[in-house]
Amino acid sequence: MTMIRTLSLALLLPSLLVAASERPNIVFIFSDDHAYQAISAYDGSLNQTPHIDRLAAEGMRFERCYVTNSICGPQRAVVQTGKYSHKNGFFQNQNHFDGNQQTFPKLLQKAGYQTAVVGKWHLGEHMAPQGFDYSEVLVGQGPYYNPTTLRDAQGAGDQKEIEYTGYTTDIISDLTLDWLKEGRDPDRPFMLMTQHKAPHRNWAPGPKYLTLYDDRHFPEPETLFEDYSRRLHAHQNQAMQIDRDLNARDLKFVPPENLTPEQLKTWTNAYRNKNEAVLNARLEGIEKTRWQYQRYIKDYLRSIASVDDAVGELLDYLDESGLAENTIVIYTSDQGFYLGEHGWFDKRWIYEESLKTPFLVRWPGTVKAGTVNGDIVSPLDFAATFLDVAGQKAPDDMDGKSLVPILQGRTPDDWRKSHYYHYYEYPGWHLVRRHYGVVDGRYKLIHFYEDDVDEWELIDLVADPLEQINFYNDPTYAEVKKDLHAEVKRLRRQFSVTDKDPPESFNPEWTEAQFRFFK
Ligand code: CA
Repeated sequence: MTMIRTLSLALLLPSLLVAASERPNIVFIFSDDHAYQAISAYDGSLNQTPHIDRLAAEGMRFERCYVTNSICGPQRAVVQTGKYSHKNGFFQNQNHFDGNQQTFPKLLQKAGYQTAVVGKWHLGEHMAPQGFDYSEVLVGQGPYYNPTTLRDAQGAGDQKEIEYTGYTTDIISDLTLDWLKEGRDPDRPFMLMTQHKAPHRNWAPGPKYLTLYDDRHFPEPETLFEDYSRRLHAHQNQAMQIDRDLNARDLKFVPPENLTPEQLKTWTNAYRNKNEAVLNARLEGIEKTRWQYQRYIKDYLRSIASVDDAVGELLDYLDESGLAENTIVIYTSDQGFYLGEHGWFDKRWIYEESLKTPFLVRWPGTVKAGTVNGDIVSPLDFAATFLDVAGQKAPDDMDGKSLVPILQGRTPDDWRKSHYYHYYEYPGWHLVRRHYGVVDGRYKLIHFYEDDVDEWELIDLVADPLEQINFYNDPTYAEVKKDLHAEVKRLRRQFSVTDKDPPESFNPEWTEAQFRFFK
């Protein structure tokens, strides 16, 4: 009886069934704080990422993928919802993401996709990820070694805690392949999010790469020793300087806290002699900063080496299984990161290194291999794009737009020429002031706007690519300034941004000093 029903359904609806089986799969590879400067497809001067680079060589590399709020949790909420922070309600890392709201995985599920998320979620532990047939996620930020995960095997909200021993990037890679091999239903298209913890602070390398780059000296960024004295109050007061704000764990004088005795032995063997040598040298001033930069950049890039391996394993499996041909593969990060530019680590600002996130897309048969795109796109667009891929119209309340036409090589004439940005987390870690602004690929108009700070800045990337000069009061920029003011006003109206900010989410008793030193 069942067979007859199935047969007759197939006879009645052949085109629908064929169409459904041909819809492409989506593999979304998401890392945390991966600067585009540390992907060789963008800039080969620092490190080599051969596996991630494959996606650029076989697909499209985006030059201007601008985040909307350069901080982890909030930017993940933007990806899930296709909406700005002030619409999805997740402004700052300390907020809770309301998982009951509309998200693209829920809509893909309804459209017949099988959905899964593996790895870092970072949108709260108060409830299991919604909209997924399968989830296995790290608790909170998750450690670099020996993570505990929460697995919801049926997508019913029932999470089981599982403890692993090993390096988290490798474990996430294994869990991803396990789901592809055994977890998914081969008769349905799927959307898989594989989300790494690396290379987030404290940049703890895996056992395989602890001594990679030991014999290498990395070139310092031009602005490593930036002088903030002529810059705005907002710049002078931050707490994200390589010379001052890295702690003992960042600098590997203290190992990760949860290593097994064997892991600790390997770790100590890798760092002990290097640490003793530098402590004996009693470095001060510029020499100390130089050493701290080398230590920072090497550990950051070592952490990325394992992410690149994970991407390689995944791409190999897609090839071997025959899935590659009908699978869109994306590599991106929740935002960019400073690798010593302006003397900084971390993110948050509207300046290039933290505004721009890497974004590579391989889609065989649709995206022309080896293309580079300069349109202004955003993680805000991902939700609408994935729905479009699945043949679904994005809901009107999403702020982002489908990137499918751009991926097909035909950017619509009315595609956005400017982008609205808004950062809220102050007071908070690293003491970056709240600001919003507009960027158009060349100019930026930025407003630091709190009760005690009211500062405007105008950046011109052509005249000043390092973003150190404020042209706001330069009379030659009067027209540009006027236009940018009009544009930011228009965008705020378009996206219904109000002057009402979210309340501070940290303990109001905390002082600046605590944010500087309690890490
Ligand atoms: Ca992040």
